[in-house]
Amino acid sequence: MAGILFIISAPSGSGKSTLVNELRRIVPNLEFSISYTTRAPRGSERDGMEYYFITRQEFERMIAQDEFLEHAEVFGNYYGTAKRFLREAATRGNDLLLDIDVQGAAQVKSSMKNSVGILVLPPSRQVLERRLRNRSISEGSVSDEVIERRLTEARKEIENFPNYDYILVNDRLEDSVELLESIVLCERLKSSGKALSPEEVRMIQAAEQCLQTAKTTSSKLKEVLASFAPAISG
Ligand code: ADP
Ligand code: 5GP
Repeated sequence: MAGILFIISAPSGSGKSTLVNELRRIVPNLEFSISYTTRAPRGSERDGMEYYFITRQEFERMIAQDEFLEHAEVFGNYYGTAKRFLREAATRGNDLLLDIDVQGAAQVKSSMKNSVGILVLPPSRQVLERRLRNRSISEGSVSDEVIERRLTEARKEIENFPNYDYILVNDRLEDSVELLESIVLCERLKSSGKALSPEEVRMIQAAEQCLQTAKTTSSKLKEVLASFAPAISG
């Protein structure tokens, strides 16, 4: 039987990679789909680790041969999820985690019933700007123009929040890691249909704070939306 497909998206700088790395370390039986991209490797990135780095021509050949579950153009480069990761995870009885943008997430949500969408958001525009700036400083290249472009892009990405099942506002890192783990375990428990222990019930209640329908999430979400643009309505 196919496992659960977890989709995680976030505006750049929200802390998604930090959270995904932690999640992969603590949750067993969760495979990570390594995307294909036409962008050049950054810093210490290596082919086959963070991404498969390929040419535009190779990418277009893969599109023509229907090898992608989804693909999109992000910041001028192609990114795509190969279908084979899905098949391989299912063969091993594992769940699969996709770290993809809002366009890819919408494609997967509409075609895969067993998918769970999680949108990670920064607590506010001001905090996002600070995280983008700190990361740029630690990487040794600060460009106000790049930061401004990412903040403008973030606003557009956040407008896609209704497409996600869970909204995780990444404020305190330790809390966010715990919540993300709860979401994964909660979805596994729900799909197993087994009787729940008191500890499992508590875990589900924790995860449900991040469900789109939860009151706590909607008030936090409203604050995030208001900080980006008072015009986006929650
Ligand atoms: P993304 O993958 O969403 O672009 P990163 O994981 O690279 O974001 O995080 C952006 C920056 O914010 C990094 O410098 C990271 O260490 C920092 N960061 C991530 N989560 C938090 C948090 N909860 N509190 C403070 N800083 C954080
Ligand atoms: P970066 O270049 O910073 O690693 O990623 C830029 C954006 O592309 C991020 O939002 C990331 O989630 C997204 N991305 C990475 N892989 C894929 C993919 O396979 N498909 C889609 N649609 N987006 C991806």
